[in-house]
Amino acid sequence: MSSYFHYRGSQLYVEQVPLADIAAQFDTPCYVYSRAALTDGLRQFTEALRGHEHLICYAVKANSNLAILNIFARLGAGFDIVSGGELQRVLAAGGDARKVVFSGVGKSVAEIRMALDAGILCFNVESAAELDRLNKVAESMGKIAPASLRVNPDVDAKTHPYISTGLKQNKFGVAYDEAIALYRRARDMPHLRITGIDCHIGSQLTETSPFIAAAEKILALVDTLADEGIHLEHIDLGGGVGICYRNETPPEIADYVAALLGTLRGRSEKLILEPGRVLTGNAGVLLTRVEYLKHGEEKNFAIVDAAMNDLVRPALYDAFHEILPVAQEPSHKSNPSNGRGGERENLSSIYEIVGPICETGDFIGHARDLAITPQALLAVLSAGAYGMSMSSNYNTRPRAAEVIVDGIAMHLVRERETVSQLYAGEKIIL
Ligand SMILES: *Cc1c(COP(=O)(O)O)cnc(C)c1O
Repeated sequence: MSSYFHYRGSQLYVEQVPLADIAAQFDTPCYVYSRAALTDGLRQFTEALRGHEHLICYAVKANSNLAILNIFARLGAGFDIVSGGELQRVLAAGGDARKVVFSGVGKSVAEIRMALDAGILCFNVESAAELDRLNKVAESMGKIAPASLRVNPDVDAKTHPYISTGLKQNKFGVAYDEAIALYRRARDMPHLRITGIDCHIGSQLTETSPFIAAAEKILALVDTLADEGIHLEHIDLGGGVGICYRNETPPEIADYVAALLGTLRGRSEKLILEPGRVLTGNAGVLLTRVEYLKHGEEKNFAIVDAAMNDLVRPALYDAFHEILPVAQEPSHKSNPSNGRGGERENLSSIYEIVGPICETGDFIGHARDLAITPQALLAVLSAGAYGMSMSSNYNTRPRAAEVIVDGIAMHLVRERETVSQLYAGEKIIL
């Protein structure tokens, strides 16, 4: 648990605010973020990179709430976007288009036009066909598009197969062995300006070695390109640093950055990084309430008001999220001296924490030892990244509210959706 979420007595707090107060004021399910936790990670990057020209491009898809983007923008961050929609969010949040890199394998003509109009820093081009399209669209607008190739270094990120992106069999980037030929081609396209190189090998990496292996391969390409007279302004080494959900031991931001800077060995190119999860993941929790306790023949269920539509990671990746009671039951605190250990047995059970959705895959956690009563509040930890941003309206469930806590202040940064919003664009036919 990040230090911004902590127990004071039996009550779970975020910064100076009891989570119970947030539930009372904004209802559940609700995403709750700590502003201090959000800024802390970005500061660690900035400090570790001091002395080397750099740009931190926060990966918007991890959590795209406007308030969060605005906090990062005001701290000087740029943004890594993967759609035109994310570009619009960045601009609406006060982000600087000149600090935006645009990744993704399927950029549409409309998205490319929008990004060229906005004047983004760079397109991270992921295929030969995209290079052609980018050149054509730029020509039609009388512009020169800044381009970088996303190169697939064929490095095993040793993470979940769904979030591993740097292997030969993945759909991302251009093959390492084809990169030089594509750079030559790009150099000859009149409406492109080659500015850099990019890679991103996967997400939730808990070791530094794959990052280093990828960086070394990318730097070898940079040298080869320089020999051909293609000089790059920046090297973008992507995102992917993992966080602790349970017992993982991901690298500290400072150590990860130091290792990357070590591979650069005094080169002068600007270093771009695209962290997502590591900036927001442990800065947020999903606050939910127990609706029912159901004691089955084989298993006990705590049915909560959050579901896979709110937080899909357990259902999608079998991901683990720590789940804590917002109020610790007094008898759950181990106190062997009072001789009343038996009470704890009565209250505490092993629960499947499940949502109301009609899918067996709708679970938040398996086999959790919790002392809870109906109506108890639970905090699902490490939910700040790929939580709200992957949420849906399955089962016509309005999406949760989002709150940022800043010291003693709580700010509603996204209102709970209403059901009428969900079908506002639908029409009945005669
Ligand atoms: C998702 C993504 C990121 C961020 O990944 P994290 O694991 O959240 O740090 C960075 N770059 C690209 C291209 C991505 O697709």
